[in-house]
Amino acid sequence: MQIPNTKFIFVTGGVTSSLGKGIISASLGKLLQARGYKVTIQKFDPYINIDPGTMNPYEHGECYVTDDGAETDLDLGHYERFLNQPTSQSNNITTGRVYNEVISKERKGDYLGKTVQVIPHITDEIKRNIYSLGKTGNYDIVITEIGGCVGDIESLPYVEAIRQARWELGTGNSLVIHLTLIPYLKAAKELKTKPTQNSVKTLLEYGVQPNILVCRTEHHLPIEIRQKISRFCNVSLQSVIESIDAETIYDVPLLMRKEKLDEIVLEGLSLSVENEPKLEQWKQFLGKLKNPTTEVKIALVGKYVELPDAYKSIIEALTHARAVNECKIRIEWVQAESLFSHSEDNLGQFFEDVSGIIVAPGFGERGIEGKIKAAAYARERKIPFLGICLGMQCAVISFARDVLGLTGANSTEIDSSTSHPIISLMEEQEDITQLGGTMRLGAYPCKLKKSSKAFSIYEKQSISERHRHRYEFNNTYLEDFEKKGMMASGINPEKNLVEIVELKNHPFYIGVQFHPELKSTVENPHPLFSSFIAASILAKG
Ligand code: GLN
Repeated sequence: MQIPNTKFIFVTGGVTSSLGKGIISASLGKLLQARGYKVTIQKFDPYINIDPGTMNPYEHGECYVTDDGAETDLDLGHYERFLNQPTSQSNNITTGRVYNEVISKERKGDYLGKTVQVIPHITDEIKRNIYSLGKTGNYDIVITEIGGCVGDIESLPYVEAIRQARWELGTGNSLVIHLTLIPYLKAAKELKTKPTQNSVKTLLEYGVQPNILVCRTEHHLPIEIRQKISRFCNVSLQSVIESIDAETIYDVPLLMRKEKLDEIVLEGLSLSVENEPKLEQWKQFLGKLKNPTTEVKIALVGKYVELPDAYKSIIEALTHARAVNECKIRIEWVQAESLFSHSEDNLGQFFEDVSGIIVAPGFGERGIEGKIKAAAYARERKIPFLGICLGMQCAVISFARDVLGLTGANSTEIDSSTSHPIISLMEEQEDITQLGGTMRLGAYPCKLKKSSKAFSIYEKQSISERHRHRYEFNNTYLEDFEKKGMMASGINPEKNLVEIVELKNHPFYIGVQFHPELKSTVENPHPLFSSFIAASILAKG
């Protein structure tokens, strides 16, 4: 296998999942990038699905979509938000994808005569994916995050691939960072290192010695604890890094800087530490985020409201908009289903003090009538409204029913025999039977009408936004909508699809068929979210 000239950092996790490997990887990536290095981050997920596109958000949280239409893990969202650069399919590999590739090579006869095995065939395929981003020549450093925990049966081939890769790459060209947990026992008033020792031992059994331990903790690590970890785990004292709970995920790069994680990494990779990291813009963002001058309450109407990870990118886009507007946002989670049984007049209880309403994306029937009601409520009460994907479709359906008088108007996703299919399938989608990866996915161009609010928000005519849906606005109804004041302000130029709708006589009523939340970053907050929050602040008075 040809070995690229890039430096590689592997991030593994121990003790428990959900320690924030994604945030640590993104924070380290940010620090290295801020020193002038070209960095990318990839995630390996040990599950068997080809991608998380077919998983329920309860299983997996949000499915993050890249420009090239890959349905990926939500950690890629963190990578993009921190590094302010796009990722692609190569940044997210799953066991399903690895096996799929190996099995199709086997069928083609690529391994003719051989027994196909985990080692070397599966591990070779994993290594091929590790090296492939390095081989592009676009990066000085590739960070590879391994999902799950060391010791899990399903992550074994990945740890083995790391062991082999480290050997192939040679000294000074790769590092392993192991993220672990130092629990605090309240009764004993003690921080405990044993789980970390055990987890490092497991890694050692597989032949991988971590170079750096990042220790998640709720309390500062005293020197004696660091010494103990260092002694038991063959890691230098300075490479025992404290990762204390932070107020926001955006504090983590600065906390890691304080612990000198970036310097230790660069020294370990024989790279220069000369350039100090340029983090002015990042610090400005944090300053604004932490010093709000006003506050607004925003209702988020969805069906997975018990699980904020299902709406991760929306929440982060709102965080970016918070900083732009120097305001605090209180999110009122509204379960779409709970709106259903209430009459229009009774909806006020769900939207008390609410200055803006977001109707979230989604699939299937559950909660949709509630979302349609929320869209109508915002329209009639002139409350700033942002409808995202299914949220836009609900805004359109409610307008058709209430303003155009099209009783029973619906999306054919919900009611295939509706007499007014306001939202329906494009012809090319009609014969599709497979569910995985067959939606309208990834970045598509959109042209804005100059007279629209959308144009004044984006301040340009041609934009590109990411999609993940199957159903579309049905253009046969467009003229009726426009006559009555709902304008199609953004159109896909190739297929003439309606991508944005907005109301004329309303302070802010915008529905978008795409997912603007996927493109909001710390250094490039999304204008739709910033202006929606600005309008909500205004509405609050
Ligand atoms: N279910 C709708 C569709 O497939 C909307 C999808 C979404 O909100 N992401 O068109």
